[in-house]
Amino acid sequence: MRTVSGRTDRVVIVGAGLGGLSCALHLAGSGREVTVLEREPVPGGRAGRLTLGGYEFDTGPTVLTMPDLIAEALDAVGEDLSDWLDLTPVDPAYRAHFHDGSTLDVISDTTRMAGEISRVCGPREADNYLRFVDYARHLWQLERHDFIDRNLDAPRDLLTGNLLRLIAAGGFRRLQTKVNQFFRDPRTRRIFSFQSLYAGVAPHDALALYAVISYLDAVAGVYFPRGGIHAVSRALAGAAEKAGVRLRYSTAVASVDVAGGRAVGVITEGGERIPADVVILNPDLPIAYRDLLPDTPRRLNRLRHSPSAVVLHIGSNLRYEKIAHHNIHFGRSWRGTFDEVIRKGQLMSDPSLLVSNPTRSDRTLAPPGREIYYVLAPAPNLATATFDWSERVAREYAGELVATLEARGYYDFGAGIEMSRVVTPVDWAAAGMAAGTPFAAAHTLRQTGPFRPANLHPTLPNVVFVGSGTQPGVGVPMVLISGKLAAQRITGTVS
Ligand SMILES: Cc1cc2nc3c(=O)[nH]c(=O)nc-3n(C[C@H](O)[C@H](O)[C@H](O)COP(=O)(O)OP(=O)(O)OC[C@H]3O[C@@H](n4cnc5c(N)ncnc54)[C@H](O)[C@@H]3O)c2cc1C
Repeated sequence: MRTVSGRTDRVVIVGAGLGGLSCALHLAGSGREVTVLEREPVPGGRAGRLTLGGYEFDTGPTVLTMPDLIAEALDAVGEDLSDWLDLTPVDPAYRAHFHDGSTLDVISDTTRMAGEISRVCGPREADNYLRFVDYARHLWQLERHDFIDRNLDAPRDLLTGNLLRLIAAGGFRRLQTKVNQFFRDPRTRRIFSFQSLYAGVAPHDALALYAVISYLDAVAGVYFPRGGIHAVSRALAGAAEKAGVRLRYSTAVASVDVAGGRAVGVITEGGERIPADVVILNPDLPIAYRDLLPDTPRRLNRLRHSPSAVVLHIGSNLRYEKIAHHNIHFGRSWRGTFDEVIRKGQLMSDPSLLVSNPTRSDRTLAPPGREIYYVLAPAPNLATATFDWSERVAREYAGELVATLEARGYYDFGAGIEMSRVVTPVDWAAAGMAAGTPFAAAHTLRQTGPFRPANLHPTLPNVVFVGSGTQPGVGVPMVLISGKLAAQRITGTVS
């Protein structure tokens, strides 16, 4: 494993996103003197908090998987997860709502889930599900230690026995093809393949090795912390401060200070120079290169970005008994929806939507008797969109989403709204995300593993990247791992 050269005692981390915080914890645990400089007044970055009239909205992630990675980051400084977070399993993990009016609960417990599939799709499909779980678990075991939870310096690092096993298991075939080999019912085919969109790729284009996302999502379990997902950000920041990390909020960094071919510190927007032996950058990777560093490698201009999303935050006085905490409302269209958003740069004509209702799990997030709805609609990123997001377009689209949900059973949804905020790709771009997508570079083969932008700077030997733009990739579990991998570049130790 390559490591940064020279002294590594004083580390400055730019950004207190989950990636930056994970890295801070792992480095503090190894005795480094760590300062985190965060532009915003609160930690968490995309896992932030929007407070509107007594409603507490999570701004980004809602589906939390693999809490053992949060525990691992806390454990690096001797802290116990249960002292920092009150986590409960979300059961069912999702409720899938289909255009024909049927619903199917996605339950982490495989025996109960087999029963649910048997009820909705028949007993043969339940057997197919159990075979798929074995398959996806096998992929996860092959991938985790060799390819995800490990710094990869070059493609040759992929050449392990598990690569051959992964090829033999069909990991490099297309995800939808593989999922269709297991399942017969169009509903189960969707439930176990749509997750590739989290990795920025349509199921018919994604590699089958991404079935691990479906596994983590639908089998390993979905959790919810009291206080919402932002509580994870606060917990990591709190534990870091307790371990001696200096967290400075409302401190934006303007540039990395470079002298003699090394980073020697950072310069804040206020003009302060903060010296460092090592600089770690958590802002979206292409933006970190563009705004904070002297040069951008040409390859980054050719990155394929994930599709983006419109998020509609709603505070409402209406409650719907037929929904669960997380709900996926599938439209009739399937492949065509991905084509519209990813290839054609259009809004979905027959939307598939994620609706989360976190107040089902934690009533303190809204005023008494009120509910929070978080509606996420996949949308083209700004590099592919064929239209402009004016305020009027955003308002009209929010209205369309409300009308769609009313037509799908959320009666009087519009009339119940007391508070709302719509967030579009233009807002993600303004918050410093390349191509206006919060989901970073798409996980195509050419942007995965050692082919994804590296976490070591190509020429500055003491500049390291952390977060979803680098390895291993996007999503809360992956950025927590990225924090550990970035720390290993400095400590040289692999845990
Ligand atoms: C709408 C949405 C839904 C999502 N849903 C899920 C989900 O359900 N499950 C899941 O696992 N993942 C989900 N994700 C993805 C997940 O949230 C991200 O992959 C992850 O949080 C990114 O963390 P990060 O550390 O890479 O970056 P960020 O969170 O962006 O952190 C970067 C930090 O750097 C700071 N910063 C930037 N520039 C500067 C500067 N110049 N000076 C100082 N500080 C700076 C920023 O303020 C920020 O705090 C979702 C994301 C979004 C936005």
